[in-house]
Amino acid sequence: MNENKCNFCGSTEYEERRTDYLYSYRGNYLLVPNTPAEVCLKCGMLYYEANVLKEIERRFFAIQKKQEQAEKYIEIPMMNYA
Ligand SMILES: [Zn+2]
Repeated sequence: MNENKCNFCGSTEYEERRTDYLYSYRGNYLLVPNTPAEVCLKCGMLYYEANVLKEIERRFFAIQKKQEQAEKYIEIPMMNYA
């Protein structure tokens, strides 16, 4: 029994998966590979935990501080798909 309900379709069936998360802020992007997420098995909607999103945000701003000149920052993940 899962108490989580999909906001989209109302399904309660989820699967844990790792996915690429694209964080964007004012035209800057950070692609975070292997981000843990819960996927709705019915509609494919992705849900991320709040602390996961916080960590991505923290990392994003840390990168920004060191690379102020870069107007666009993107981290390309390794192609490690099966
Ligand atoms: Zn759903």
